[in-house]
Amino acid sequence: MFDCIVIGGGPAGISAAIYLKRFKLDVLVLMKDYGALDKTDHIENYYGFPEPLTGRQVVENGLAQAKRFGIEVRKEEVLNIDYSDTFLVKSTQDEYQAKTVLLATGSTRPNLRIPGFADHIGKGISYCAICDGFLYRKKTIAVLGEGEFMAEELAVLRNFSPDIMVFTNGRPLAAEVHGVKVITDPIVRLEGEDLLTAVVTAKDLYPVNALFVAVGTPSATDFALRMGAFVENNAIVVDSEYQTNIPGLFAAGDCIGGLSQIAKAVADGAKASLSINKTIRSKAS
Ligand SMILES: Cc1cc2nc3c(=O)[nH]c(=O)nc-3n(C[C@H](O)[C@H](O)[C@H](O)COP(=O)(O)OP(=O)(O)OC[C@H]3O[C@@H](n4cnc5c(N)ncnc54)[C@H](O)[C@@H]3O)c2cc1C
Repeated sequence: MFDCIVIGGGPAGISAAIYLKRFKLDVLVLMKDYGALDKTDHIENYYGFPEPLTGRQVVENGLAQAKRFGIEVRKEEVLNIDYSDTFLVKSTQDEYQAKTVLLATGSTRPNLRIPGFADHIGKGISYCAICDGFLYRKKTIAVLGEGEFMAEELAVLRNFSPDIMVFTNGRPLAAEVHGVKVITDPIVRLEGEDLLTAVVTAKDLYPVNALFVAVGTPSATDFALRMGAFVENNAIVVDSEYQTNIPGLFAAGDCIGGLSQIAKAVADGAKASLSINKTIRSKAS
């Protein structure tokens, strides 16, 4: 069992992992890609670099630094986290147990530019099958997504209704789904006076009671919501120790809101690691 699994290999996650390793804790970092920094070619406001760096260079420097400390970093997408006394982290490749988890997955929740989408959030549109699936038992449910994350949410929703369809919104289906209708046409709008009543594609109109969004990869807030951690304005709520309301579940970086900058993410990671170290040491004594 790991002392801490860090989910995210960006500035917050790697900064935390370096401190944790230097505290002699057993740490694993799981990351799926280059995160927010993949979107920029010009970083020139981070301390200590006289010449601009690309976002990728910043991430690669961080990973090289982690490697020098012997930190285990695996390129795996995390799909789910279960919590009882300890944490069970399920990725696309494997399952891992840990005493604590640090969410450092950045801020990536999709806000889809589909007419009618924003109007129906909380009025038929949900981001969390475990939280809201029960509200739509025996109703017509749509799931929006194309990959493993969608398949995970679909599996949960099957407990509540047999009447489910999957919309990939123009993307190719990239996961196994059985016994559900799959609509790959792009969605042109969502309808409903107040509550959501239909998904409309270029070819057809599909009456639905709910649309569960599971596009791409689960974000930190998706994990948090499913586990019952508090989220406000798409940011995970943490206390002064960077701990969520779930003991042992910590969060740092863009996913907790505030200034979206490398300097703040690095500082968050460092501060969260101090709290994680305290938690592990107090469990041991
Ligand atoms: C276009 C752009 C330009 C920017 N320019 C600057 C700048 O000039 N200066 C500056 O200071 N900041 C800049 N920023 C902001 C900066 O990139 C972020 O504040 C910083 O990267 C946040 O670090 P983080 O570790 O919280 O998240 P991220 O860097 O986003 O890292 C998130 C990590 O989580 C991983 N992850 C996410 N979901 C999963 C999952 N389900 N399973 C496994 N891993 C997962 C990702 O793969 C990634 O490794 C810019 C951001 C953008 C988008």
